[in-house]
Amino acid sequence: MPAVVDPAKCNGCTGREREECLFVCAYEAVSIKDGKAVVDEQMCDDCIMCVDACPVEAIITV
Ligand code: SF4
Ligand code: SF4
Repeated sequence: MPAVVDPAKCNGCTGREREECLFVCAYEAVSIKDGKAVVDEQMCDDCIMCVDACPVEAIITV
């Protein structure tokens, strides 16, 4: 199942050099819209790299 971002938790990696989920995704499934991460479920391979990488636990797999 694809990764899902909780927009209430995602802070766009404010204060960091990069959006960690965007950086680790090898499938180009993550984009940033209005300062929040969004996962394209068609492109997501469910590798959970972004789940582990998110510093605020904003991403889960469902
Ligand atoms: S689970 Fe893997 S493939 Fe899916 S968005 Fe996260 S890093 Fe990308
Ligand atoms: S790693 Fe987490 S906090 Fe950072 S942009 Fe992605 S979902 Fe948002």
